[in-house]
Amino acid sequence: MASAQSVLRLEGVQRSYVEADHQLEILKGADFELKTGEMVALVAPSGAGKSTLLHTAGLLERPDGGEVYIAGAACGTLSDGERTARRRNDIGFVYQFHHLLPEFSALENVMIPQMIRGLPSAEAAERARQLLDYLRVGPRAEHRPAELSGGEQQRVAIARAVANAPLILLADEPTGNLDPETSGYVFEALSALARQSGLAALVATHNHALAERMDRVVTLEDGRIIPYTG
Ligand code: ADP
Repeated sequence: MASAQSVLRLEGVQRSYVEADHQLEILKGADFELKTGEMVALVAPSGAGKSTLLHTAGLLERPDGGEVYIAGAACGTLSDGERTARRRNDIGFVYQFHHLLPEFSALENVMIPQMIRGLPSAEAAERARQLLDYLRVGPRAEHRPAELSGGEQQRVAIARAVANAPLILLADEPTGNLDPETSGYVFEALSALARQSGLAALVATHNHALAERMDRVVTLEDGRIIPYTG
């Protein structure tokens, strides 16, 4: 039974892909729970299914079996439109490559998801400025992504991911493209934000030093999630 604080729960999640003549079973009954304010690292070799897990948890892909619960509510029977709404309101994504819109400024990139959700532009701009200041990229707010360093781009991507105050942040190798020092402060920014806002985060990473600084480290083994023991 999930506790009241559970923001994400996976129960027996299965996911397979059909390759030319056979089926690739990636998740084989994965169970997992993430609670408010918790930061969990997911460390597993390439190809183990980390992205598949994050996409399934984030309602971008439907599981073939099992169930995903967001804030205690089962998502299996939701329509595509309802899943999109849940994703927009409750889930933020950060990827290895920032995926910021190149023709818009940092500020506009953080405003856009809020405006899609219906916020007036003045309010969206105010929140975007606050977030960029908090992540110490405020002075770069008017610049386009190409004019920012890798670390700055990732901090803007984090600001965008949390712009709509999601319950859950799902990050897929968020520092995978950065040098160690930059990784360190991007991670600091991410964890400060999570602690300050009560956001729960599941972060796939190859960076063991960063993983150890999270509350818990899990891995994927034979399609299931188990504690990582090193
Ligand atoms: P990781 O993120 O741990 O590197 P992935 O979840 O990306 O792992 O991939 C797990 C396995 O599933 C890989 O073998 C990959 O090739 C395969 N896979 C992922 N997505 C698809 C897809 N859309 N179609 C077919 N195979 C896929």
